[in-house]
Amino acid sequence: MKEQNYLDSLVGVFGHPVSENPGVVIQEAAFRALGLDKWRFLTIDVNPEDIADAIKGLKAMKMRGINCTIPHKIEVIKYLDKIAPSAKLIGAVNTIINDDGVLTGENTDGQGFMIALDSADVSAKDKNIVVLGAGGAARAICVELALAGAKKLTIVNIPKDMALGEGLVQTLKENTTVSVDYVPWVDKFKIPAGTDILVNATSIGLYPNITDKPNIDYDTLTTAMYVQDVIPNPAFTPFLQEAEKRGVKWQSGLSMLINQAALNITMWTGLEPDKEVMKQALEKALS
Ligand code: NDP
Repeated sequence: MKEQNYLDSLVGVFGHPVSENPGVVIQEAAFRALGLDKWRFLTIDVNPEDIADAIKGLKAMKMRGINCTIPHKIEVIKYLDKIAPSAKLIGAVNTIINDDGVLTGENTDGQGFMIALDSADVSAKDKNIVVLGAGGAARAICVELALAGAKKLTIVNIPKDMALGEGLVQTLKENTTVSVDYVPWVDKFKIPAGTDILVNATSIGLYPNITDKPNIDYDTLTTAMYVQDVIPNPAFTPFLQEAEKRGVKWQSGLSMLINQAALNITMWTGLEPDKEVMKQALEKALS
C-alpha cells in the first residue's frame, strides 16, 4: 500500500487588517510551481493584543514561519529568540523562521527592494538618494541602501512624524557611514539637483487612494534619475505616471513585493521559487 501523508507544512501572515494582503496568491503559486503540494500559506487576522498568543500558537502548530505586517512588525520582536543584523537596525521584522521552536526574525522588505533595484541595473553605491517617508518600509529601505554604500540619503517626511524621521537618521548615523539629511516635508518638495535615485516609501497612492501622489515638484525630475515606488497596488501609480511622462526610468512596487516574497520562500523551504510564476499570479489576482 502507498504511504499516506496528509501533514501540511504551514506558513502565512499575521496582520490586522490583513484581508487584502495578497501574500497567499504569490506564495501558493510558487509552492505549486515548486511541487510543494503540502505547503499552505494562511492569511490570519491577529489583533494587536493577541500577538503573544499567536506566536505561541505558531510554535504549538509547528508552523515553519510567518510574515508579520501592520501592526505587528515591531511588537513581535520581543517574542523572538534571534534577530538578523539588518532587521535589528531596522527595528522591525516581517519574516519569522521557526527552526524546531527557535524563532529568528528577518526583514525582507529592504532586501526585496535592493534586489528590485539590482534587477533594474541600478546600484546604490556612491549614489545620492531621496527617500519620501520614514515609516516601516522607509526604515528598511534606508538601512539597506546605507549598508550597500549609498553616498547620501535625504529623508523627506511630514513633521507630524518628526520623531520617526529623527530616530531613523540617528540609527543610520550611529551604524553606517552614509551621510544623511532630514527634511521636514511641509511644501511641495523639489528634488535636489544631483539626485540619482528617488524612492516613494510612503503609503501615498495605495488602493483605494489611487489618485493620490506625493507632494513634490515633478518638474524637478530629470532623465538622469531613477524612480522607484513601493506601492504594489495599483502598480502604475500617479507618482510613476509623472516619471513616465518625463521619460524618467522607473519601477513599481510589484518587483519589491515579489522579491521579498521569494526571499521568504527560500528562507522557509530552502528552494528558489519561480518569480515569473509569482508575478503572473499576482497580476491576475489584481486585474
Ligand atoms: P507606515 O505607515 O509605517 O509608513 C507610511 C509613511 O508614509 C508614514 O510615515 C506616513 O505618515 C507617510 N505618509 C502617508 N501619507 C502621507 C502623505 N500624504 N504625505 C506625506 N507622508 C505620508 O507604512 P509602511 O512603511 O509599512 O508602508 C508604506 C507603504 O509601503 C505601504 O503602502 C505598503 O503597502 C508599502 N509596502 C510595500 C512593500 C512591497 O514589497 N512593495 C513592502 C512593505 C510596504 P503618517 O504615519 O503620518 O500617515
